Amino acid sequence: MSQVPQQHRARKRFGQNFLRDLGIISRIVRSIGPREGDRLVEIGPGQGALTAPLLEAAGKLEVIELDRDLIPGLRVQFFNYPDFIIHEGDVLKFDFAALKGDGPALRVVGNLPYNISTPLIVHLLTAGNAIADMHFMLQKEVVERLAAQPGGTDWGRLSVMAQYYCHVDQLFIVPPEAFVPRPKVDSAIVRLTPHASLPHVADDPALLFELVKLAFGQRRKTLRNNFKGRVSPETLEALGIDPTRRPQTLTVAEYVTIANRVAADER
Ligand code: SAM
Repeated sequence: MSQVPQQHRARKRFGQNFLRDLGIISRIVRSIGPREGDRLVEIGPGQGALTAPLLEAAGKLEVIELDRDLIPGLRVQFFNYPDFIIHEGDVLKFDFAALKGDGPALRVVGNLPYNISTPLIVHLLTAGNAIADMHFMLQKEVVERLAAQPGGTDWGRLSVMAQYYCHVDQLFIVPPEAFVPRPKVDSAIVRLTPHASLPHVADDPALLFELVKLAFGQRRKTLRNNFKGRVSPETLEALGIDPTRRPQTLTVAEYVTIANRVAADER
C-alpha cells in the first residue's frame, strides 16, 4: 500500500481529518469489497489513504476533491494508474447522474467532510438510479440518525429520508485516534444501499419531505400541532393516524400515506 504523505496542513473549512490507521483503512476497504470493473467514485480523496487500496483493488477510480492544494499530490501519487480520474470541485454541485450516463450504477465511497455531511447525503439520496451503493465514514451521531428506527430518539428527518430511498447498515465505529488531526467526536462507517424498487412510493417526493420537515419542526409536540394549517387532524384520523402522536413514532410508510393524501387533495 502507498504511504500517506504527511506534508499538507489539514484545513478545517474543508473538514479535513486524514485517516492514518492502516487497520481501519483495510477494514473499510474490506467492507466496500471493491472488484475489478466497479465504477467506484471517492468523495474527498485527501492524501489518498483510501484511494490507494481502492485503486489497487478495482484498477480504476474517479475522485472528487475540492481542495486544489491536494490535487498535485494525488496526480503524483497515482500517476501510473491510467484509469484514475480527478474531478476538481465541490461534490455538492457534482452531477452523479451525468457521470453514470448509460453505464452501470456508481459505487460511491468516502471519508466525508463532516461539515457538509447532511446536505451531501441529501444530494446523493436524490441522485436517482445513478448510485448502486454508498459506504461512508461520518460522525457517529449522523450514522445513528441514518440507521435509527421509528420510536427511538434518533429517528428524525434524515432517518425518514435515508430509509425512504435506501437500506441502511451501520457497520462499525472508528475512534478519533484513527485520524490526523483527531476529530472531537467518534466516527462510524455506514452502508447505504438504494432500494431496487421503493417499498413505499410518494407521488410527490418533494411534498413528502416538506411534510416530514414540518412534522419534526418541534419533536415534543404532536402531529396536530406541527401540521397546523397544512394537514388537518380529520385528514390524519381518516388515514388511521392519531393526531396526538409525536413525529418520531411514525414510520416511513405512514409519512408516505399522509403525503399521498395531501397530494391527492391538492390535485
Ligand atoms: N479521504 C481522506 C482520508 O480518509 O484521509 C480525506 C478525508 S477528509 C475527512 C475529507 C476530504 O473531503 C478532504 O480531502 C477535503 O478536502 C474534501 N472535501 C471537503 N469538502 C469537499 C467538497 N465540498 N467537495 C469535494 N471534496 C471536499
